[in-house]
Amino acid sequence: MQTLADPSGAVLAFDVGGTTIKAEVLGPDLQTWARASVPTPHGPALADGVVDTARALLDGLTSEQRDAVRSVGLALPGIVDTARGVSIFAANLDLRDVALAEPIAARLGLPVRLGHDVACAAAAERHSGAAAGVTDPVVVVIGTGIAAVSYVHGRRVAGVTGQAGELGHVVVRPGGPRCGCGARGCLEAVASASSIARAYRSASGNDVAGAADVVARLGQDAVADAVWAEATTALADGLLIATALLAPGAIVLGGGLAEAGASLVDPVAASMRERATAVTVPPLLTAAHGSRAGVVGAALIASAPSAECDELARHAGVSPPARHTHRDGG
Ligand SMILES: [Zn+2]
Repeated sequence: MQTLADPSGAVLAFDVGGTTIKAEVLGPDLQTWARASVPTPHGPALADGVVDTARALLDGLTSEQRDAVRSVGLALPGIVDTARGVSIFAANLDLRDVALAEPIAARLGLPVRLGHDVACAAAAERHSGAAAGVTDPVVVVIGTGIAAVSYVHGRRVAGVTGQAGELGHVVVRPGGPRCGCGARGCLEAVASASSIARAYRSASGNDVAGAADVVARLGQDAVADAVWAEATTALADGLLIATALLAPGAIVLGGGLAEAGASLVDPVAASMRERATAVTVPPLLTAAHGSRAGVVGAALIASAPSAECDELARHAGVSPPARHTHRDGG
């Protein structure tokens, strides 16, 4: 069912990224009534950016539509205290213990709920995307970093700290490339979109804007083929670890890198089957909501108070990690 929890209400949904805020007004059937994309103000000014964007979007609606808007959802990177509506830590937004829900709600006159961006993207895939109807999927978001969301008995696994799912920092190539976290050979140091672009640049001496340029060269450029093979086999190793631990009903690949579609899924699935010994390889699927997954997930949390994007349901003084936090999968 592609509907929000409130069958008559519309919502304002924001996917806050390090550079861009994607915003939409969504009707009860998740159809887009209005959309905007604006640069992300960093630090506490983020609240102003959200309020200004919300007002501009609301101004563009009919009065009937405007009256139907009941709530606001924000998908944020980093560590989010959903219960208090506070961004605990987001390195790429310069946020540390910044209250967002309350000040935004006070100015818009609408309730505001926060969620974690990767958890929101996974919730969207589970609600009405590739993971819909799949028993206990693992959703892996691959962008600047790599993060996974897994479900057991239908519930998202948060762990004691709320940070379960740091698949990007599982070491798959000991002694390999240096990761942003300081370790060597983490999955995201080999297979994230930014790592793939970086590996291609250093091996070929050619500049590329991102991993999509490497994908475009597959089959015509031996360096691109080699970098891609290294990344997809590393990804297969990482996904086999997740499979060994969780035996998911399917693995859904999302985030920017998943836009490669079959060019990504086919070699990863083949490598998984080649390398799997004691585990059954689950179906490997591509995310259906694409770059809208965060916005759709934010709409779901806006619409339902106890939605599964909740990052730290039992937040109890969890401190920002000393060295890093970048579950910025999108
Ligand atoms: Zn790492």
